[in-house]
Amino acid sequence: MSDSYLDAHPDENGFFGKFGGSFIPPMLEVPFAEITKAYNDIKNSPEFIEELKYVRKHFQGRPTPISFAKNLTEHCGGAKIYLKREDLNHTGAHKLNHCMAEVILAKHLGKKKVIAETGAGQHGVALATAAAYFGLECEIHMGEVDVEKEHPNVVRMKILGAKVVTVTDGLKTLKEAVDSAFGAYIQEYEEAIYCIGSVVGPHPFPMMVRDFQSVVGFEAKEQFKEHENKLPDSVVACVGGGSNAMGIFAGFIDDKEVGLVGVEPLGRGSKLGDHAASLTYGEEGVMHGFNSIMLKDKDGEPAPVYSIGSGIDYPSVGPEQAYLNETGRTTVGLCDDKEAVNAFYALSQLEGIIPALESAHAVAYAMKIAKTMDKDQTILVNLSGRGDKDIDFVVDNHPIPNAKF
Ligand SMILES: *Cc1c(COP(=O)(O)O)cnc(C)c1O
Repeated sequence: MSDSYLDAHPDENGFFGKFGGSFIPPMLEVPFAEITKAYNDIKNSPEFIEELKYVRKHFQGRPTPISFAKNLTEHCGGAKIYLKREDLNHTGAHKLNHCMAEVILAKHLGKKKVIAETGAGQHGVALATAAAYFGLECEIHMGEVDVEKEHPNVVRMKILGAKVVTVTDGLKTLKEAVDSAFGAYIQEYEEAIYCIGSVVGPHPFPMMVRDFQSVVGFEAKEQFKEHENKLPDSVVACVGGGSNAMGIFAGFIDDKEVGLVGVEPLGRGSKLGDHAASLTYGEEGVMHGFNSIMLKDKDGEPAPVYSIGSGIDYPSVGPEQAYLNETGRTTVGLCDDKEAVNAFYALSQLEGIIPALESAHAVAYAMKIAKTMDKDQTILVNLSGRGDKDIDFVVDNHPIPNAKF
């Protein structure tokens, strides 16, 4: 067996230690086994790798650069802060890294259609983009509450040619959208494939999405050496499901001297319902088809969660994040709404980069630890997305500071 961490994890049943696996209705076992087999067949095929490389370079805009945040570094007065610029991907975030690959896989399997759920609409837009590029149909399930809240993303998906199914069951948000999308997939699995939006869900998705996102870390490792001729002391990423974090961690996971920090949203505070810090406050449990650490209500059901970053308010976390946290290879940082908004404005005004509110959590955490580190130390932040989607909400609720940081 290879001694590379990525080759050795997960095991053949999709477990990272006790986390992960596949807890799905019997009807889904055959289609999920088909996806696993197809992925294992093509992941090392030169054709697949070439096609993915081609679209990443000529459509998506990869490699994305690493920028030195000189002014932010001086402002914090400590370790040097660098940014891996996933905000420069087409569609403005890291999500296209796995969506393009998932749709190539769909094409390889001869599927005509991709199905997924979306919460805030970011995954829906990325998947609709990939489906348009490759000429597949796209059907996105979205809770009615989110359809109203995230109107611009609904319009984007429709312009891109996707069908948006409004889900009116239960609380009409992400959980119901997942159930609805799974229901549609069971009806149509011969023609369609399910495309998950993070390193979550049943095996093989946590592995597959991690592998597709690992390009971020592999690029970053080479690029960082160009800047500093050494590895970073710390790599910091925000964690919702964990795909942008696993993507950048993948490049450094075998380099034990590099600290890997996943930043969870502390929202309004530590009371259940006010945050989405699953690893910090959660317990072991199965939801959405995999075993991980999750936030539960008193009945053991997924608890309500909250964060100002709508892409990171998820009551569980990818199984590999849970495993790496348990083994101590990664650690968890926390960032509340206020710190995230402060970092949003600081990065905008000091560096000319408006970050997504999700990514602002990682920036805020880096600003906090930079102060405690020496000037010759370095932090690499995964800037998972750009903040255009958040500007109206931020300025309406948190006035633009007139202090020039
Ligand atoms: C969706 C999203 C996230 C959260 O998803 P992960 O799977 O945890 O990476 C973070 N940042 C941005 C910009 C997103 O769109």
